[in-house]
Amino acid sequence: MIKKKGIIVAIDGPAGAGKSTTARLLAEKLNYDYIDTGAMYRAVTLFALRNDIKHTETEQLVKLVSSLNFEFKNNGTEIFVNSENVSEQIRSAEVSSKVSDYSKIAEVREILIQKQYEIGEHGGIVMEGRDITTAVFPNAELKIFLTADLDVRAYRRLIEMRNKGQKIDLENVRNNLETRDKIDSSRDVNPLMITEDSIIIDTTKLTVDQQVEIIYNKAKEIIKSLNLHSHHN
Ligand code: C5P
Repeated sequence: MIKKKGIIVAIDGPAGAGKSTTARLLAEKLNYDYIDTGAMYRAVTLFALRNDIKHTETEQLVKLVSSLNFEFKNNGTEIFVNSENVSEQIRSAEVSSKVSDYSKIAEVREILIQKQYEIGEHGGIVMEGRDITTAVFPNAELKIFLTADLDVRAYRRLIEMRNKGQKIDLENVRNNLETRDKIDSSRDVNPLMITEDSIIIDTTKLTVDQQVEIIYNKAKEIIKSLNLHSHHN
């Protein structure tokens, strides 16, 4: 049955595949909310580093994560944690290099997945991450696996970071993406994987507009069919 506010679009994929940009633009077109779940894992990592909590110190980590209040503002592009805007700090090289270790911890995931579920359960949402199609919304009406060749992803991410004024080279960016993909895909809890009912979109040779358009058309189709269905009832 169609939810009051619209369907759930779940997007997963490796690092740097363009999930955030695509999800944000898609949400704009659909007039839906956009949620970047990676920002939440990054924020947990930032606060753990600030408080000197290692990823192996589960008890302290759980206490910390439970004390964090997450708010998304500015169409989902900014994240506030306990009222502090940490949108820039969560993109630092240090956070990027450590986030996959903190994301491996089952107790951390349990808390964040619950929060993400509560944000999106009423529909009208585009949520992206690594386990949205598998763990957060396994029943999402539309599931997308967004991917691209590693070199292309690394180059796109490099440009993005340089545009923000970060000094970093291609090799470093490429290594970070590759290492995170390895950890994210091989962890015990909620690893990155492709569900049978996901539509795989390889963006290596696509423009952002093209990838948004493909998903938008699928979403419209589903919304239309669900509306028709509810009219019959
Ligand atoms: O999306 P982004 O690349 O910013 O995510 C940063 C990290 O957060 C990922 O490499 C992964 O370790 C973790 N993550 C996750 N589950 C999600 C979203 C992100 O484990 N749903």
